[in-house]
Amino acid sequence: MDLFLAPASYVNPMASLDQSARLEANEITRRDDELTGFTPRQIVDGWFENERVRALFLYLATMWGLDYDLEGLGYLVPLMINRGWHYRLCQGGSHHLAHLMSKVIYENGGMILASTDVKRIVVDDGEAKGVEMVDGEFIEAGKFVCSSLNPQQTFLELVGEQHLEEELATRTNEWQYSDWSLFTVHLAMDEAPRFKVAESDPELNNALIYILGYEGEEDLVNHFEAIKRGELVEGGFNCCFPSVHDPLRAPSGRHIGLISQEAPYNLSNGGPEAWYRVRRQHVERCKSTLSKYAPNIIEENIIWDYISTPLDIENKFPDMKQGCFKQGAYLPLQMGYFRPNEYCCQHSSPINRLYMCGACTHSGGMITFGPGYCATEKIAEDLGIEKWWPEPDCVRVAREAGLL
Ligand SMILES: Cc1cc2nc3c(=O)[nH]c(=O)nc-3n(C[C@H](O)[C@H](O)[C@H](O)COP(=O)(O)OP(=O)(O)OC[C@H]3O[C@@H](n4cnc5c(N)ncnc54)[C@H](O)[C@@H]3O)c2cc1C
Repeated sequence: MDLFLAPASYVNPMASLDQSARLEANEITRRDDELTGFTPRQIVDGWFENERVRALFLYLATMWGLDYDLEGLGYLVPLMINRGWHYRLCQGGSHHLAHLMSKVIYENGGMILASTDVKRIVVDDGEAKGVEMVDGEFIEAGKFVCSSLNPQQTFLELVGEQHLEEELATRTNEWQYSDWSLFTVHLAMDEAPRFKVAESDPELNNALIYILGYEGEEDLVNHFEAIKRGELVEGGFNCCFPSVHDPLRAPSGRHIGLISQEAPYNLSNGGPEAWYRVRRQHVERCKSTLSKYAPNIIEENIIWDYISTPLDIENKFPDMKQGCFKQGAYLPLQMGYFRPNEYCCQHSSPINRLYMCGACTHSGGMITFGPGYCATEKIAEDLGIEKWWPEPDCVRVAREAGLL
């Protein structure tokens, strides 16, 4: 993690063979490179014997969308486990993070136009000239346009296929979204959960994240196989109770919780729209699983809930098609040098002055700031802008070790 995986999130990717050669030259990173050809399940089974421990680590490795039977991305398993291990809460709620960042934009003379959509990226003579909004307003690109949307939106919907070279159009048409997304339930509760397991160790009532519902690896695999078939069954999930750690999140003495469960977008019985019919029934399944582990979380103790399905994610964020919160699946041909494709992996694109910075670019999804940081570096280099930010220490160390 320290030597390569973490710093690599903040540097544009190099071609796989070149990267492999560097990793092979170092005793520690060689071990990570050797994982590449293994599936997450093979890796976890090779490391752990206990069924519950296997279920825990396989969940951490796959919860953000790495398929446990997928070959070719095994080097990411330690990264995924590490992220699950280092969960953080934003004090006061995660909206503070977005507000703080928008403050920085305004303080530096920028502006955010909300409640409006970009209809078109205007391209003329192979160069991005600006964007046209849905209300017809044209905003001229000062020096560049940078899209944080997925490649199909950016190139097929906004730029238009007539401006694309055939190879880029083909790769963009081939882009794939994840098979599974997230079903989340926010809870308002009269009491904090009291977990059965905490009877032997009260400190366990203060954990940040709980992974419940899988007593062994087989339970997890059976659940995920049902998800892949588009079926909703009783299954495990992770959950967090922020007010236990940050009491101001709820009125005095009361609590909030969040259940996050991997779930299909396309339901076998009725497609995505069927979510509107079955979501209430599915919440009840999740609550019943929670109460098996925390018996005081029963209906009388739950004041309110708010449900979000994979379809709701897509409706809210058009870039997260099929509810894919990484804007595109993690597949060998969609990661590293191939994310979102070999023509745009350095965050620039074959269209002059058009850049990309969303989760569909390196280093992928989640609130890591990796794609935005790498895109900013690239734009600054191309435009000859003097960087006023320092290189992260971990990147410097990895460069000095010859790994990046
Ligand atoms: C339910 C859920 C829970 C998650 N939990 C976590 C978590 O706990 N930890 C974590 O690290 N990550 C989490 N993620 C993942 C994380 O939120 C995403 O990976 C991340 O937001 C991707 O950032 P982005 O900037 O690429 O895309 P986005 O955050 O989706 O930003 C793109 C923006 O563009 C807007 N947009 C789309 N189309 C247009 C258009 N035509 N014109 C103008 N604007 C447009 C969208 O509305 C959106 O606001 C979660 C995601 C979801 C959905």
